[in-house]
Amino acid sequence: TKWVYTFGDGAAEGQAGDKNLLGGKGANLAEMCRLGLPVPPGFTITTEACNWFYANGRAYPEALSAEVSLALDHIAGLTGRKLGDPVRLLLVSVRSGARASMPGMMDTVLNLGLNDRTVEVLAADSGDARFAYDSYRRFIQMFSNVVLGVDHEVFEEILEDEKAQRGFELDTELSADDWRAVIGLYKAKVEEELGNPFPQDPQEQLWGAIGAVFSSWMNARAVTYRRLHDIPEGWGTAVNIQAMVFGNMGDTSATGVAFTRNPSTGQRALYGEFLVNAQGEDVVAGIRTPQNITEAARIDAGSDRPSLEKIMPEAFASFVEISDRLEKHYRDMQDLEFTIERGKLWMLQTRSGKRTAKAALKMAVDMAAEGLISREEAVGRIDPASLDQLLHPTIDPKAPRDIVAVGLPASPGAATGEIVFSSHDAEEMKALGKKVILVRIETSPEDIHGMHAAEGILTTRGGMTSHAAVVARGMGKPCVSGAGSLRVDYRSGTLMAMGSTFRKGDVITIDGSNGQVLKGAVPMLQPELSGDFAAVMEWADAIRRMNVRTNAETPADARMARSFGAEGIGLCRTEHMFFDGERIVAMREMILADTEQGRRSALDKLLPMQRSDFVELFEIMAGLPVTIRLLDPPLHEFLPKSDEEIEEVAAVMAVSADKLRQRTEALHEFNPMLGHRGCRLAISYPEIAEMQARAIFEAAVEAGRRTGKPVVPEVMVPLVGLKKELDFVKARIDAVAAAVMKESGETIDYLTGTMIELPRAAVRAHVIAETAEFFSFGTNDLTQTAFGISRDDAASFLETYRQKGIVDQDPFVSLDLDGVGELVKLAAEKGRATRPGIKLGICGEHGGDPASIRFCEQVGLDYVSCSPYRVPIARLAAAQAAV
Ligand code: PEP
Ligand code: MG
Repeated sequence: TKWVYTFGDGAAEGQAGDKNLLGGKGANLAEMCRLGLPVPPGFTITTEACNWFYANGRAYPEALSAEVSLALDHIAGLTGRKLGDPVRLLLVSVRSGARASMPGMMDTVLNLGLNDRTVEVLAADSGDARFAYDSYRRFIQMFSNVVLGVDHEVFEEILEDEKAQRGFELDTELSADDWRAVIGLYKAKVEEELGNPFPQDPQEQLWGAIGAVFSSWMNARAVTYRRLHDIPEGWGTAVNIQAMVFGNMGDTSATGVAFTRNPSTGQRALYGEFLVNAQGEDVVAGIRTPQNITEAARIDAGSDRPSLEKIMPEAFASFVEISDRLEKHYRDMQDLEFTIERGKLWMLQTRSGKRTAKAALKMAVDMAAEGLISREEAVGRIDPASLDQLLHPTIDPKAPRDIVAVGLPASPGAATGEIVFSSHDAEEMKALGKKVILVRIETSPEDIHGMHAAEGILTTRGGMTSHAAVVARGMGKPCVSGAGSLRVDYRSGTLMAMGSTFRKGDVITIDGSNGQVLKGAVPMLQPELSGDFAAVMEWADAIRRMNVRTNAETPADARMARSFGAEGIGLCRTEHMFFDGERIVAMREMILADTEQGRRSALDKLLPMQRSDFVELFEIMAGLPVTIRLLDPPLHEFLPKSDEEIEEVAAVMAVSADKLRQRTEALHEFNPMLGHRGCRLAISYPEIAEMQARAIFEAAVEAGRRTGKPVVPEVMVPLVGLKKELDFVKARIDAVAAAVMKESGETIDYLTGTMIELPRAAVRAHVIAETAEFFSFGTNDLTQTAFGISRDDAASFLETYRQKGIVDQDPFVSLDLDGVGELVKLAAEKGRATRPGIKLGICGEHGGDPASIRFCEQVGLDYVSCSPYRVPIARLAAAQAAV
């Protein structure tokens, strides 16, 4: 095995296609070298070495150290520099880099190779003692924190004290001698904390840093990030070691990050930020507020701090040229990191940039128009799950706005919530069902939990590329960053804006599209799905084979789903139509009646309500298919619980509360989800199915007359395991259909089918298909019954399963392809064998999950059905699955 890949000076052992082995950063550094771009020479230790490290008790493969030495010789060959050399000193950066980018989650060490002796070499070499000492103190701080585990606050405290003693405000006011004094204190502190002096040997430093980067793959925040983004632990991280270039060598040096297009809006314009006389971490950490790269962006932002274009026109020009070239080469928007050392530009990273859903759509549509990519590729560029961001509300432009501050529009969308000042509080309040806005001076990777729990994020420091901004955009959460006029005081738990003070629990609204922070809750508008969104959806619709329906029973949901592009209803859960007001009472009356007579009289009350519900749904769906499922509740969901409820039903039924209580107890089940539900109810009490069938067919006649479009209802029988169950219920449905046709004098076309949601039904699908005219896979129950895991209780242990690596994903969210998927596939094949062309769909939650949708395409289902908000996601995912 080869563990180390070198790059530099127009050549590289790796290339862009080697992401799995070299990580994204390493593969792209190699590619940039191959393109002849200015990249500091270096080498990448592979992700396989990381995996070896973990498989062998955190040890290194034997050959690694010799390969690293050769790679250092390679750098020496190109630069003439060596670690620890008394004249031609080499310093290196050591950075992580996994296959998928995990911004800020893992560790980095810069300026490695400095010690008490080499700092003098650096001072002589650069002719700038102040720079050399500043670099050394940065190194001590970073190395001690990342490799030795010393809290970085202790260094901040020392630095603050020293500045205060000298009456300084800014780090830049410290002289070489001041820094030398700080270094003395830093080293003493390290020795005090660890009992050992700060390591002076560059080799020891290097291997310490390599080990720390590998180890950071398993740190808590990286583990959390991977879990949130479904990144497998087995990928590992690579380590990139490169000759240092310095953005902190005075006023002709700088460092920055940029996107080739605006990551928030998608606008085609170079967009980025930089800091003069700084190192990369200063920009990302959001400690100093950075400047705009282009004049246009500076003017746009109304900033009076000069742009890179203005102050370093030559470096700017080569940067513009390189960014254009990289975008064309990768055929995608690039996220770039660069450093300018005394006027010379160096590229440190390129990768496909993270973007908001809105920007992704605009870029895809623009790039297709520019001829950079095809329409298929454009459709493939959008992460279906990200569309969710667009479906969220924005602030009503007509609403009055009580603006208390304006920061940067770091991640679009608006959010309202109660203020919390810590990630811990955010999680706690969220658990209580509250909506919160996480307010921080700046966020760090430790805040990822809290950001996840919050509706939106507000920071008072940092730019558009600060941690908070990048992570929020990735999560699709509204974020306002760098709202510098706000003062956060964690200790007293207050947020001060000009003139007003907010405390924890006070409600604010943030608008991540324009950076505004508003007092109180503000009226919101539903999103408009036109423009780029509509274009991409249209292209997707042209590509996909499967239909997309919705799971809906209320007119509001059905209308919403139609506006999102649903092509019918795949599941109308009729039991959900009985939860409100007088209906629940009639429903309870029906369930609790102990005679057929009693049930029929309650059902007579329910019939007209059901019928008018169905008429409305049929009308909204205007001729599109509508699948209505017969009653499928676990009975306990409907039983009256409180004394009040029991008395209410008793009064209607004219029986005593005691008698009713007894009846309720008699209906109690130990395992309601496996109890008297689904078709079992229709078999015990056929009059229920008959009432529902009558409501469906009468409604079909009426809606057909009203709209002039014939309605073809699909009547679905739930929880079938035996063909005879379906035969029994279908006979009742057919009898009612015949009766309604006779009464109305109209013919009704209808289909009778079943859910496939029990393993027995899947296995016997060829037999069930003799009766069933369609199948709809109820993968919620099928997952529950195939695994023998209760869908209502699984949350308590599935998380443990995930943490212990037993499952990668919650099988109730993303279909378990190996097990449950096999059952679906088997049933589809068996169903088709009996009834070629049998209509097949899915209506479990998985119908809105992109990975599960891909599987449905492979199995050849006719449609997926999902909740209204997931319809656009499903349309796009179905198109991506089809190419
Ligand atoms: C299912 O089981 O997948 C299904 C759609 O039905 P329900 O969730 O109503 O049980
Ligand atoms: Mg079910």
